[in-house]
Amino acid sequence: MAKIDSFSAAVKAELARIYPDKDCCRMAELAAIARLDGTVTIGRNQGMGLYITTEYSAVARKVYRLLKDQFFIEGELTVKRQNRLKRRTLYHIRVASCQETPSLLWELGIMTPEKQILPGIKKELIKTKCCRSSYLRGAFLGSGSVSSPESDYHLEITASSEKLGKDLMALINRFPGFQAKISRRKQSYVVYLKESNQIADFLTLVGAHGSLLEFENSRVLKGMKNQVNRLVNCETANLEKTVEAALRQLDNIRLIEERVGLDSLSPPLSQLARLRLENPEINLKELGEMMRPPIGKSGINHRFRKIEEIAEGLRP
Ligand SMILES: [Zn+2]
Repeated sequence: MAKIDSFSAAVKAELARIYPDKDCCRMAELAAIARLDGTVTIGRNQGMGLYITTEYSAVARKVYRLLKDQFFIEGELTVKRQNRLKRRTLYHIRVASCQETPSLLWELGIMTPEKQILPGIKKELIKTKCCRSSYLRGAFLGSGSVSSPESDYHLEITASSEKLGKDLMALINRFPGFQAKISRRKQSYVVYLKESNQIADFLTLVGAHGSLLEFENSRVLKGMKNQVNRLVNCETANLEKTVEAALRQLDNIRLIEERVGLDSLSPPLSQLARLRLENPEINLKELGEMMRPPIGKSGINHRFRKIEEIAEGLRP
Protein backbone atom coordinates (compact mmCIF):
# COMPACT_ATOMS: atom_id res chain seq x y z
CA MET A 1 0.00 0.00 0.00
CA ALA A 2 1.33 3.42 -0.87
CA LYS A 3 1.87 5.11 2.44
CA ILE A 4 1.16 8.77 2.86
CA ASP A 5 4.53 10.40 2.57
CA SER A 6 5.61 13.96 2.35
CA PHE A 7 5.35 14.10 -1.44
CA SER A 8 1.70 13.10 -1.29
CA ALA A 9 1.13 15.76 1.33
CA ALA A 10 2.89 18.37 -0.80
CA VAL A 11 0.76 17.51 -3.83
CA LYS A 12 -2.41 17.75 -1.75
CA ALA A 13 -1.37 21.03 -0.21
CA GLU A 14 -0.77 22.42 -3.68
CA LEU A 15 -4.07 21.11 -5.06
CA ALA A 16 -5.99 22.39 -2.04
CA ARG A 17 -4.82 25.91 -2.87
CA ILE A 18 -6.31 25.81 -6.37
CA TYR A 19 -9.77 27.33 -6.40
CA PRO A 20 -11.59 26.76 -9.72
CA ASP A 21 -12.92 29.86 -11.48
CA LYS A 22 -15.91 28.17 -13.00
CA ASP A 23 -19.03 27.16 -11.18
CA CYS A 24 -19.17 23.80 -13.01
CA CYS A 25 -15.63 22.92 -11.97
CA ARG A 26 -16.20 23.91 -8.34
CA MET A 27 -19.21 21.62 -8.28
CA ALA A 28 -17.27 18.76 -9.88
CA GLU A 29 -14.41 19.08 -7.43
CA LEU A 30 -16.61 19.29 -4.35
CA ALA A 31 -18.64 16.33 -5.61
CA ALA A 32 -15.48 14.26 -6.02
CA ILE A 33 -14.15 15.06 -2.56
CA ALA A 34 -17.54 14.33 -1.03
CA ARG A 35 -17.91 11.11 -3.03
CA LEU A 36 -14.47 9.75 -2.21
CA ASP A 37 -14.12 11.04 1.31
CA GLY A 38 -17.64 11.52 2.57
CA THR A 39 -20.17 9.50 4.49
CA VAL A 40 -23.90 9.94 4.42
CA THR A 41 -25.38 9.90 7.90
CA ILE A 42 -28.96 9.10 8.66
CA GLY A 43 -30.36 10.75 11.72
CA ARG A 44 -33.34 10.13 13.97
CA ASN A 45 -36.07 11.35 11.67
CA GLN A 46 -34.50 9.68 8.66
CA GLY A 47 -32.88 13.04 7.97
CA MET A 48 -29.70 12.68 5.97
CA GLY A 49 -26.49 14.51 6.65
CA LEU A 50 -23.07 14.52 5.04
CA TYR A 51 -19.80 13.97 6.82
CA ILE A 52 -16.43 14.59 5.18
CA THR A 53 -13.22 13.56 6.92
CA THR A 54 -9.72 14.51 5.87
CA GLU A 55 -6.24 14.54 7.32
CA TYR A 56 -5.44 17.82 5.65
CA SER A 57 -6.50 21.15 7.10
CA ALA A 58 -6.18 22.82 3.70
CA VAL A 59 -8.58 20.29 2.19
CA ALA A 60 -11.03 20.88 5.04
CA ARG A 61 -10.88 24.62 4.42
CA LYS A 62 -11.46 24.10 0.74
CA VAL A 63 -14.50 21.89 1.34
CA TYR A 64 -15.88 24.47 3.76
CA ARG A 65 -15.47 27.24 1.22
CA LEU A 66 -16.90 25.19 -1.64
CA LEU A 67 -19.98 24.27 0.39
CA LYS A 68 -20.51 27.89 1.23
CA ASP A 69 -20.02 29.16 -2.32
CA GLN A 70 -21.98 26.45 -4.09
CA PHE A 71 -24.79 25.77 -1.62
CA PHE A 72 -24.72 28.63 0.90
CA ILE A 73 -24.21 25.97 3.54
CA GLU A 74 -21.96 26.51 6.54
CA GLY A 75 -20.39 23.17 7.38
CA GLU A 76 -19.50 22.44 10.99
CA LEU A 77 -15.78 22.01 11.25
CA THR A 78 -14.29 19.95 14.06
CA VAL A 79 -10.72 18.89 14.64
CA LYS A 80 -9.80 15.66 16.35
CA ARG A 81 -6.42 14.45 17.39
CA GLN A 82 -6.91 10.79 16.75
CA ASN A 83 -3.75 9.17 17.84
CA ARG A 84 -1.30 10.79 20.18
CA LEU A 85 1.54 8.56 19.12
CA LYS A 86 1.15 9.03 15.41
CA ARG A 87 0.07 12.63 15.86
CA ARG A 88 -2.65 12.05 13.38
CA THR A 89 -5.14 14.86 13.25
CA LEU A 90 -8.46 14.49 11.50
CA TYR A 91 -10.65 17.29 10.25
CA HIS A 92 -14.36 16.66 10.00
CA ILE A 93 -16.85 18.77 8.13
CA ARG A 94 -20.42 17.98 8.87
CA VAL A 95 -23.46 19.14 7.00
CA ALA A 96 -26.31 18.53 9.38
CA SER A 97 -29.58 17.19 8.15
CA CYS A 98 -31.81 19.98 6.95
CA GLN A 99 -34.28 20.72 4.21
CA GLU A 100 -31.57 21.28 1.63
CA THR A 101 -29.55 18.12 2.30
CA PRO A 102 -31.39 15.79 -0.11
CA SER A 103 -30.89 18.18 -3.01
CA LEU A 104 -27.27 18.74 -1.97
CA LEU A 105 -26.67 14.99 -2.02
CA TRP A 106 -28.38 14.74 -5.39
CA GLU A 107 -26.43 17.57 -6.95
CA LEU A 108 -23.18 16.15 -5.63
CA GLY A 109 -24.01 12.83 -7.24
CA ILE A 110 -24.11 10.91 -3.97
CA MET A 111 -27.79 10.00 -3.63
CA THR A 112 -30.69 9.71 -6.03
CA PRO A 113 -33.91 11.63 -5.27
CA GLU A 114 -35.26 8.25 -4.14
CA LYS A 115 -32.57 8.20 -1.46
CA GLN A 116 -30.52 5.46 -3.06
CA ILE A 117 -26.74 5.72 -3.20
CA LEU A 118 -25.68 6.58 -6.75
CA PRO A 119 -23.25 3.80 -7.69
CA GLY A 120 -20.78 5.56 -9.99
CA ILE A 121 -19.94 9.09 -11.09
CA LYS A 122 -22.94 11.24 -11.98
CA LYS A 123 -22.60 12.03 -15.70
CA GLU A 124 -23.77 15.65 -15.44
CA LEU A 125 -20.78 16.46 -13.25
CA ILE A 126 -18.18 15.48 -15.83
CA LYS A 127 -19.69 16.70 -19.06
CA THR A 128 -16.86 19.02 -20.04
CA LYS A 129 -13.11 18.64 -20.05
CA CYS A 130 -12.55 21.35 -17.44
CA CYS A 131 -14.88 19.54 -15.04
CA ARG A 132 -13.31 16.17 -15.74
CA SER A 133 -9.92 17.40 -14.58
CA SER A 134 -11.52 19.20 -11.63
CA TYR A 135 -13.27 15.98 -10.66
CA LEU A 136 -9.95 14.15 -10.73
CA ARG A 137 -8.35 16.85 -8.60
CA GLY A 138 -11.14 16.39 -6.05
CA ALA A 139 -10.83 12.62 -6.22
CA PHE A 140 -7.12 12.82 -5.54
CA LEU A 141 -7.70 15.22 -2.65
CA GLY A 142 -10.36 12.86 -1.34
CA SER A 143 -8.58 9.53 -1.37
CA GLY A 144 -5.50 9.74 -3.53
CA SER A 145 -1.84 9.24 -2.77
CA VAL A 146 1.37 9.26 -4.72
CA SER A 147 4.69 7.82 -3.66
CA SER A 148 7.71 9.99 -3.54
CA PRO A 149 9.49 9.94 -6.91
CA GLU A 150 12.67 8.84 -5.12
CA SER A 151 11.05 5.50 -4.36
CA ASP A 152 8.92 3.64 -6.88
CA TYR A 153 6.44 5.27 -9.23
CA HIS A 154 2.92 4.83 -7.94
CA LEU A 155 -0.16 7.02 -7.85
CA GLU A 156 -3.52 5.78 -6.69
CA ILE A 157 -7.06 6.74 -5.80
CA THR A 158 -9.10 4.44 -3.59
CA ALA A 159 -12.78 3.99 -4.31
CA SER A 160 -15.32 2.35 -2.05
CA SER A 161 -17.15 0.45 -4.79
CA GLU A 162 -16.25 -1.34 -7.98
CA LYS A 163 -18.53 0.85 -10.10
CA LEU A 164 -17.02 4.04 -8.71
CA GLY A 165 -13.53 2.64 -9.24
CA LYS A 166 -14.26 1.70 -12.83
CA ASP A 167 -15.83 5.09 -13.54
CA LEU A 168 -12.76 6.80 -12.12
CA MET A 169 -10.45 4.64 -14.20
CA ALA A 170 -12.49 5.40 -17.33
CA LEU A 171 -12.44 9.10 -16.47
CA ILE A 172 -8.64 9.13 -16.27
CA ASN A 173 -8.32 7.07 -19.44
CA ARG A 174 -10.50 9.49 -21.39
CA PHE A 175 -7.50 11.79 -21.41
CA PRO A 176 -4.92 10.84 -24.02
CA GLY A 177 -1.90 8.80 -22.98
CA PHE A 178 -3.31 7.30 -19.78
CA GLN A 179 -3.61 3.63 -18.97
CA ALA A 180 -4.96 3.61 -15.44
CA LYS A 181 -5.68 0.18 -14.01
CA ILE A 182 -7.82 -1.06 -11.18
CA SER A 183 -7.31 -3.71 -8.52
CA ARG A 184 -9.20 -4.87 -5.49
CA ARG A 185 -7.77 -4.30 -2.04
CA LYS A 186 -9.83 -5.72 0.81
CA GLN A 187 -13.15 -3.87 0.69
CA SER A 188 -12.02 -1.18 -1.74
CA TYR A 189 -11.00 -0.72 -5.34
CA VAL A 190 -7.76 0.99 -6.16
CA VAL A 191 -7.30 2.89 -9.40
CA TYR A 192 -3.62 3.35 -10.06
CA LEU A 193 -0.92 4.60 -12.39
CA LYS A 194 2.51 2.96 -12.37
CA GLU A 195 4.35 4.67 -15.13
CA SER A 196 6.35 7.82 -14.41
CA ASN A 197 5.25 9.66 -17.56
CA GLN A 198 1.61 9.06 -16.75
CA ILE A 199 2.04 10.19 -13.16
CA ALA A 200 3.70 13.36 -14.43
CA ASP A 201 0.80 13.85 -16.85
CA PHE A 202 -1.71 13.33 -14.06
CA LEU A 203 -0.01 15.96 -11.91
CA THR A 204 -0.19 18.36 -14.86
CA LEU A 205 -3.82 17.51 -15.53
CA VAL A 206 -4.95 18.32 -12.00
CA GLY A 207 -2.77 21.43 -11.77
CA ALA A 208 0.04 20.33 -9.44
CA HIS A 209 2.69 22.19 -11.42
CA GLY A 210 5.02 22.84 -8.49
CA SER A 211 4.96 19.20 -7.42
CA LEU A 212 5.50 18.20 -11.02
CA LEU A 213 8.74 20.15 -11.05
CA GLU A 214 9.91 18.32 -7.94
CA PHE A 215 8.82 15.04 -9.50
CA GLU A 216 10.70 15.72 -12.73
CA ASN A 217 13.82 16.81 -10.91
CA SER A 218 13.99 13.60 -8.92
CA ARG A 219 13.25 11.69 -12.07
CA VAL A 220 16.26 13.29 -13.72
CA LEU A 221 18.44 12.59 -10.69
CA LYS A 222 17.25 9.00 -10.57
CA GLY A 223 17.99 8.54 -14.27
CA MET A 224 21.39 10.09 -13.79
CA LYS A 225 22.16 7.84 -10.84
CA ASN A 226 21.22 4.79 -12.90
CA GLN A 227 23.54 6.00 -15.58
CA VAL A 228 26.36 6.29 -13.07
CA ASN A 229 25.83 2.73 -12.04
CA ARG A 230 26.26 1.76 -15.64
CA LEU A 231 29.29 3.90 -16.32
CA VAL A 232 31.84 2.96 -13.72
CA ASN A 233 34.38 5.53 -14.82
CA CYS A 234 32.12 8.51 -14.69
CA GLU A 235 33.37 11.18 -12.35
CA THR A 236 31.05 12.61 -9.77
CA ALA A 237 31.96 16.18 -10.50
CA ASN A 238 31.17 15.71 -14.15
CA LEU A 239 27.93 14.03 -13.30
CA GLU A 240 26.81 16.83 -11.04
CA LYS A 241 27.50 19.24 -13.83
CA THR A 242 25.47 17.11 -16.22
CA VAL A 243 22.57 16.88 -13.80
CA GLU A 244 22.64 20.60 -13.18
CA ALA A 245 22.70 21.29 -16.90
CA ALA A 246 19.79 18.92 -17.54
CA LEU A 247 17.72 20.53 -14.79
CA ARG A 248 18.49 23.95 -16.16
CA GLN A 249 17.50 22.85 -19.68
CA LEU A 250 14.21 21.51 -18.35
CA ASP A 251 13.50 24.69 -16.38
CA ASN A 252 14.17 26.77 -19.49
CA ILE A 253 12.00 24.60 -21.70
CA ARG A 254 9.11 24.58 -19.23
CA LEU A 255 9.30 28.32 -18.86
CA ILE A 256 9.10 28.80 -22.62
CA GLU A 257 6.27 26.28 -22.83
CA GLU A 258 4.34 28.07 -20.12
CA ARG A 259 4.84 31.60 -21.39
CA VAL A 260 4.83 31.41 -25.17
CA GLY A 261 4.46 27.75 -26.08
CA LEU A 262 7.05 25.47 -27.66
CA ASP A 263 5.63 26.14 -31.11
CA SER A 264 7.04 29.64 -30.89
CA LEU A 265 10.52 28.10 -31.20
CA SER A 266 12.09 27.35 -34.56
CA PRO A 267 11.49 23.72 -35.62
CA PRO A 268 15.01 22.49 -34.73
CA LEU A 269 14.75 24.05 -31.26
CA SER A 270 11.22 22.87 -30.57
CA GLN A 271 12.14 19.35 -31.66
CA LEU A 272 15.02 19.33 -29.20
CA ALA A 273 12.86 20.87 -26.45
CA ARG A 274 10.22 18.20 -26.84
CA LEU A 275 12.80 15.40 -26.92
CA ARG A 276 14.33 16.72 -23.70
CA LEU A 277 10.95 16.91 -21.97
CA GLU A 278 10.18 13.34 -22.94
CA ASN A 279 13.65 12.09 -22.04
CA PRO A 280 14.82 14.10 -19.06
CA GLU A 281 17.52 11.59 -18.10
CA ILE A 282 19.47 10.92 -21.28
CA ASN A 283 22.73 12.64 -22.18
CA LEU A 284 23.47 15.07 -24.98
CA LYS A 285 24.98 12.46 -27.28
CA GLU A 286 21.88 10.28 -27.01
CA LEU A 287 19.68 13.31 -27.54
CA GLY A 288 21.62 14.15 -30.68
CA GLU A 289 21.12 10.64 -32.01
CA MET A 290 17.38 10.95 -31.51
CA MET A 291 17.13 14.17 -33.52
CA ARG A 292 15.84 14.01 -37.08
CA PRO A 293 18.27 14.47 -38.78
CA PRO A 294 20.76 13.39 -36.06
CA ILE A 295 23.27 15.99 -34.89
CA GLY A 296 26.43 15.89 -32.79
CA LYS A 297 26.95 16.86 -29.18
CA SER A 298 28.23 20.34 -30.00
CA GLY A 299 25.19 21.01 -32.17
CA ILE A 300 22.95 20.03 -29.27
CA ASN A 301 24.93 22.27 -26.94
CA HIS A 302 24.55 25.13 -29.34
CA ARG A 303 20.79 24.68 -29.51
CA PHE A 304 20.45 24.48 -25.74
CA ARG A 305 22.36 27.76 -25.49
CA LYS A 306 19.82 29.34 -27.84
CA ILE A 307 16.96 27.94 -25.75
CA GLU A 308 18.66 29.38 -22.68
CA GLU A 309 18.87 32.80 -24.30
CA ILE A 310 15.20 32.74 -25.20
CA ALA A 311 14.25 31.64 -21.68
CA GLU A 312 16.45 34.35 -20.18
CA GLY A 313 14.54 36.89 -22.24
CA LEU A 314 11.29 35.67 -20.70
CA ARG A 315 12.47 35.76 -17.11
CA PRO A 316 11.24 38.74 -15.14
ZN1 LIG B 1 -15.95 22.97 -15.57
